[in-house]
Amino acid sequence: MTRPAAVTVRVPAKVNVQLAVGPARPDGFHDLANVFLAVGLYDEVTAAPADSLRITCAGPDADKVPLDRTNLAARAAELLAARYGLAPDVHLHIAKDIPVAGGMAGGSADGAAALVACDALWGTGASRAELLDICAELGSDVPFSLVGGAALGTGRGEKLSSLDVGGTFHWVFAAADGGLSTPAVYREFDRLTPGAVAPEADEALLAALRAGDPFALAGALANDLQPAAVSLRPSLTDTLAAGTAAGALASLVSGSGPTTAFLAEGEESARRIAEALTASGTCRSARVAASPAPGATVLAASPAPGSPADLGWAPTP
Ligand code: ATP
Repeated sequence: MTRPAAVTVRVPAKVNVQLAVGPARPDGFHDLANVFLAVGLYDEVTAAPADSLRITCAGPDADKVPLDRTNLAARAAELLAARYGLAPDVHLHIAKDIPVAGGMAGGSADGAAALVACDALWGTGASRAELLDICAELGSDVPFSLVGGAALGTGRGEKLSSLDVGGTFHWVFAAADGGLSTPAVYREFDRLTPGAVAPEADEALLAALRAGDPFALAGALANDLQPAAVSLRPSLTDTLAAGTAAGALASLVSGSGPTTAFLAEGEESARRIAEALTASGTCRSARVAASPAPGATVLAASPAPGSPADLGWAPTP
């Protein structure tokens, strides 16, 4: 079978519509009830053959992305290659549109995208279960980036069950200057929340998602990490207030922040809120996005030079 010359995979960002956090476990992780919703802000990862593993990145936040083997896309390629006894000789190019260190799982998204791209490029044919296994090894948020849509994550967030969503939700995401370190936000959570209890998914929130009802969802949005993120970055209070004043149904910190998320009544209202947030001077930029969005998806596999498909014809299936 002819291998493609390059494979491009598109992968969404996420927002946590519920993030309930339990006390720190002996292993340092926290038990979570984490309701993920994939949103239509995307990175694209292109995998192409190379002499050795190489990462490049382009986009507004590209200078903040590590280009060494700590990049989750590089680690994904190495894990998949090791499993199949291959050399991870691949050039991974990340077209980055998801804010970096913004609490929207951009690094996790690139890990999932690189895995799917390398699987297609190398023809490894890994099963969905195997890919999910590797994702869980890469990090708690990575399996969700692979599946997309909406899902409840339990354990440290990596045990996923998918959820029904009955309509489209419209959001605005405001990027802040600089990132917040996820471990630092959890440490602040531990300091602020000595009596944290075992986390549970909120039935009212799951019903709001099923119904596709933005008003009901607005009343149920909850992020236990928000006080910790605001404590480390007090200026987020101004951004949250600016979104509420502009007509958001609800305003919250996205994951561990510092990106803030605003739920709008509809598309038009989301556009107005984004304009008002941009004008408010309380954030670096504001973008609209709809949810749910599909998980890591192969966009294009360009044919190898000289292959039948490259020459304009393809064998009959
Ligand atoms: P999460 O929401 O999962 O906590 P985040 O959105 O806050 O994550 P990321 O954008 O994933 O944060 O980046 C966190 C850190 O991970 C970065 O500061 C960077 O050093 C590292 N990193 C590793 N791989 C990547 C990648 N492909 N893109 C961005 N950051 C990466």
